[in-house]
Amino acid sequence: RDRPDDKRVLVIGLGRFGSSLALELVNRGWEVLGLDSNPRLVQTYADALTHTVVADVTDEEALKQIGAAQYARAVVAIGSHLEESILATSLLVDMGVPSIWAKATNRRHGRILEQVGADHVVLPEHDMGERVAHLLSGRMLDYVVLDAGFALGKTRAPRSLLGRTLRETRVRQQYGITVVSVKRVGASFTYATQETVLHKGDVIVVAGRTDDVERFAEST
Ligand code: ADP
Repeated sequence: RDRPDDKRVLVIGLGRFGSSLALELVNRGWEVLGLDSNPRLVQTYADALTHTVVADVTDEEALKQIGAAQYARAVVAIGSHLEESILATSLLVDMGVPSIWAKATNRRHGRILEQVGADHVVLPEHDMGERVAHLLSGRMLDYVVLDAGFALGKTRAPRSLLGRTLRETRVRQQYGITVVSVKRVGASFTYATQETVLHKGDVIVVAGRTDDVERFAEST
């Protein structure tokens, strides 16, 4: 049932998050069953998704009838209705769905979903808020935290690194970060090597500990 080639997923809640996710999965060739208690929303996505159904997901019988237990993956995309989100997650766990993704509106909600048995909890508003804070206050052009304490940052090549190979700049020893890729003006990103020479206007992607990445970006 948990075959990697099983491209079927149950998406519960077709709000802004759930519908974007469901549509993108369909674009990527997945078979999506979209479910919402709101008939108007179900109607809206009936043509775009593989299957849609109007159902209250906190109703165990309804979930069984839909065949939720047959799915290897399910997403609980109910954010603002805390109780429904927890109940739905817990029912899917009871039914033995092997991989459950759940959206939380805040950390506390996320912790509860994990305790109930969600395998992956996402916090879109929280994460995006943090990301925008970094972009707004710092000098980074883009920024993503991969794991607690580890980040990728996109930034302009600092003047101190121009005109020499990355090996010569000893950037890793100096800042604790690794230059992963480089984008010349008008070109696209390519891998950086020890022999890469940075030029004025280059945009680079660096990886490292979050505070090192930030310190590096501030030096640009
Ligand atoms: P977003 O912020 O992504 O728009 P919302 O939390 O506002 O997310 O939307 C969640 C969706 O989940 C809504 O469309 C709502 O109708 C649906 N929903 C809420 N409770 C249930 C439930 N018990 N069963 C099925 N769908 C539900």
